[in-house]
Amino acid sequence: MKIKITTKELKSDFAKEVEERSGIDVKKCYQCGKCTAGCPVAYEMDYMPNQIIRFVQLGLRREALTSRTIWLCASCITCTTRCPKEVKIAELMDVLREMALEEGVANPMEKDITTFHEAFLNSVKKHGRISECGMLMEFKRKRPKAALKSALQDLADGSQLMMKGKLSLAPHDIKGKDSIKRIFEKLG
Ligand code: SF4
Ligand code: SF4
Repeated sequence: MKIKITTKELKSDFAKEVEERSGIDVKKCYQCGKCTAGCPVAYEMDYMPNQIIRFVQLGLRREALTSRTIWLCASCITCTTRCPKEVKIAELMDVLREMALEEGVANPMEKDITTFHEAFLNSVKKHGRISECGMLMEFKRKRPKAALKSALQDLADGSQLMMKGKLSLAPHDIKGKDSIKRIFEKLG
């Protein structure tokens, strides 16, 4: 079945909001599918990357913000580099993730990923960079089931990394960590 979509329909309030927050003109997407064809994790997603863009264009807020896709996206930027219309899809996914968290509608099936996302950002906020051990401790405290599942593997990998000097228990702050903190405060 053919569906005709007018330019007016591609200017939904949701699209405007996403455009304002991301600086990305989602109307430019003409659904060629090149982003999806190159995405290395598309096979796990519930909606393809080009479908997520279509949701935004059409104002399908719930479909976009509750999708598993926005959390499974690995931010590899393959889609962005392949897009003939220069739509920055990876960056768009990031904005959608933030909106989903703000609105409390993040897909519950991806709770491990959303918790990891928060632990990652908390670590950057606190130290100006990632503190691997601190970040993992926070994640494991909040997601004990996931922690238990990977405990043995983590122990084996962690001790090897420590022996090679690649992992430290103590966090290392960067010099300008207060500036990073201010950026977080400014962006809310
Ligand atoms: S590659 Fe670009 S234009 Fe093509 S579907 Fe993806 S976002 Fe749209
Ligand atoms: S950035 Fe995300 S959506 Fe784009 S190709 Fe990589 S995993 Fe797929």
